[in-house]
Amino acid sequence: MTGQDAGLDAGQDATRIDTSRPHPARMYDWYLGGKDNYPVDEEMGRQMVAINPRVPIVARANRAFMHRATRWLAGNGVRQFLDIGTGIPTEPNLHQVAQEVAPDARVVYCDNDPIVLAHAAALLRGTPEGVTEYLQADVRDPAVILERAREVLDFTRPVALSLIALLHFVPDEDGAHDLVWRLLSELPSGSCLTMTHATADFTPEEEAAQATEKLRAAGVTLALRSRAEFARFFDGLDLVEPGVEVLHHWHPELGEPVPGQDDGVMAGYGAVALKR
Ligand code: SAH
Repeated sequence: MTGQDAGLDAGQDATRIDTSRPHPARMYDWYLGGKDNYPVDEEMGRQMVAINPRVPIVARANRAFMHRATRWLAGNGVRQFLDIGTGIPTEPNLHQVAQEVAPDARVVYCDNDPIVLAHAAALLRGTPEGVTEYLQADVRDPAVILERAREVLDFTRPVALSLIALLHFVPDEDGAHDLVWRLLSELPSGSCLTMTHATADFTPEEEAAQATEKLRAAGVTLALRSRAEFARFFDGLDLVEPGVEVLHHWHPELGEPVPGQDDGVMAGYGAVALKR
């Protein structure tokens, strides 16, 4: 169930790992202390940390939000998950958190980076009662993702769509808000949207500009969004309490605190909402 076509330029090999430039999935792995990254990723990661030393803490707080939100969803009866922008496997992965609460949970993972495909086996080891599947596709191809996800998930029952630390790689020119609406449009009432997103709301303007420019020069688009721009992804949905929050303030009781999370600003928002 791995697509070779989604979002790729003609002639590009979807499975080739390009170590000549940094990739978001591999930089994130480096921030988390993982081993599935290359010198270019570490080099760019170090440049980001030089600009803002709290980036690795934000990455950990983001991952911790995913754990808590997934626990909340599974605890509230959600049994199907569509996770786009999954990232390199890092235990516990979403299916492990969901299946710990609900062993029969069905999870479809999706990412466009070949490094995630290369490590997908770790995402496919779930409970015997549940299901996990991986597909390689680009979030900018929602029709492809929905068609493949439907093979595994029952779209007459609620699905939790998670776009965790993904949409800040999708600029407005690519229709980020419309993409989310399109993905939700085929999911039934009772489905959920879980999102996190990086923001420059709490950091000096020149700091964000410097980071964005360095990444852009290396071929990575970073679209930092304000609280209002983030909140707009949830238009027409019912936000779950406490609504849009900085990452570590969303249901902290559902997990362990990340060391250092309270020692400065948290440059990311998170929220969960329900489709009526
Ligand atoms: N969701 C995980 C990983 C976040 S890192 C977590 O929060 O822990 C962001 C991930 O989004 C990377 O794995 C990257 O490869 C993926 N990604 C970036 N742009 C994408 C796109 N256009 N389509 C699909 N995945 C994308």
